[in-house]
Amino acid sequence: MAQSTAKEVIMHSYVTIGDREKLRLLREQTLDGYWPDLAYKNWCLRCNREFDGYSVRVRRNRWAELTVECGTPGCHGTPAEWAPYPWWDEQHPLTRQRQAGCRAPTAPRPKGVSLTASSSGRGAEGADRNRQA
Ligand SMILES: [Zn+2]
Repeated sequence: MAQSTAKEVIMHSYVTIGDREKLRLLREQTLDGYWPDLAYKNWCLRCNREFDGYSVRVRRNRWAELTVECGTPGCHGTPAEWAPYPWWDEQHPLTRQRQAGCRAPTAPRPKGVSLTASSSGRGAEGADRNRQA
């Protein structure tokens, strides 16, 4: 008895579009709109991986609108979850590099002036008078 695996067929229908059209979609749907070419890479917050414009999947939703999806297989990351560097990973070299670039300069702190206590002088004074007779 052959049991067919119940494979969930998601209603996402992926489409193949031209590079220029894809690039236009990427620029249109990413937050900063910066995507110079399809070789440009972004990081996905959902899968924590880097992907380029070529690997980005394009699908048509139920309203016949084209949307872009993270290039990592199996990840459904949306443009709202993409960034040019993984800012969520503080230990990542790219993140450190970015944060080091915009580090505020530290002003030198003025040295405290130390006050020396004045010495108290005591003058002994003889109160003897010479009486001249
Ligand atoms: Zn992803």
